[in-house]
Amino acid sequence: MSQAHISLKNLRKTYGPAVAVENLNLDIEEGKFIAIMGPSGCGKSTMLRMLAGLEEASGGDILHQGRRINDLPIWEREMPMVWQSLALFPFLTVRENVEFGLRMNGVGAAERKHRAQVWLKKLGLGEYADRGIDQLSGGQRQRVALARCLVTEPSVLLLDEPLSALDAHLSVQMQGELKRLQRELGITFIYVTHSHSEAFSMADTVVIMNKGRIEQAGSPEDIYLRPATPFVAEFLGGSSIFGCTVRTRKNGELVLESADGTFKCDAAQSSGLTPGQNVSLVVRADQISITPAAGWADNEVSCRVIGEEFVGALVNLRLETGAGTQITVQLQQRDMQSLDLETGAGVTASWHPEDGHIIAE
Ligand code: ADP
Ligand code: MG
Repeated sequence: MSQAHISLKNLRKTYGPAVAVENLNLDIEEGKFIAIMGPSGCGKSTMLRMLAGLEEASGGDILHQGRRINDLPIWEREMPMVWQSLALFPFLTVRENVEFGLRMNGVGAAERKHRAQVWLKKLGLGEYADRGIDQLSGGQRQRVALARCLVTEPSVLLLDEPLSALDAHLSVQMQGELKRLQRELGITFIYVTHSHSEAFSMADTVVIMNKGRIEQAGSPEDIYLRPATPFVAEFLGGSSIFGCTVRTRKNGELVLESADGTFKCDAAQSSGLTPGQNVSLVVRADQISITPAAGWADNEVSCRVIGEEFVGALVNLRLETGAGTQITVQLQQRDMQSLDLETGAGVTASWHPEDGHIIAE
């Protein structure tokens, strides 16, 4: 296996007795787009700040191409960071802001000016070089912040929720630009975001963190189709999660017992499961249907309608079982209309045995 571009080995950060990051292990390949997600306070920014050299690790190693860089100062790490508040200098022009990183590296004036102009052009800011920062829009400022980092030609760019201050329309536009830049430059992006759509549309690898640890790291498809822990399934949303016990496993079929009844499951994913074992059964909202009548399908649960949420042409129908399990069913707008369901109405939800995803505890 080729050497990882960046490796985190048992990386830790504590503030007094509080643990912000706990034994992080992660290998990042060169030229990939990595998205880091997780609830507020789970240690995403702390991890990024340790990579940038803005924060000292309390334990573990940060390796850059196999070399330990924990003790390198910020300016020798070549891993600049862009964040929401940008930290542009208001008293400098656009070009002076971009030149700043080069000045710190001792690059001469003429060379600085030339390189800054090249990057401003690449980011569509060629005509704004002599303006003040306060004469730019939010999106333009974001590009200046990017140019200021990229002008030093780093091999890694760290981004901490860079688009969260932009309005929705601009944010979507910048997502496209960032992804294009990353592909063209071939540099590694480590991108912290709280937006599922940003992470899943841009990243090669999505990392889900919780309480200072990594719950799962994988391709967007892997995380979406095969969440490794109940936390990941819940964090992504849109899935129903049943706590179950394995009853039997035979003839390619797994039988699970839960407070909501007995469920059948494709046994292909059951290797290693034994009767009596506790598992979580995860079923995505797009895999559950409303059954016309009871006795129709294999996995049926009686529910009451507790709400609905319109998402474009789709509706997320929220249901609750007698045992209190929350179920989400995704329906087409027109199917929802023909079902004509009121809050409190009784319905039967069901799914195919091969559609349930099992997470062993
Ligand atoms: P995230 O970026 O995922 O929201 P952070 O990395 O900012 O989370 O914070 C992780 C944890 O570390 C939080 O509990 C936060 O309160 C704590 N923390 C972060 N910075 C400091 C600090 N300078 N001093 C004390 N605690 C901190
Ligand atoms: Mg943060």
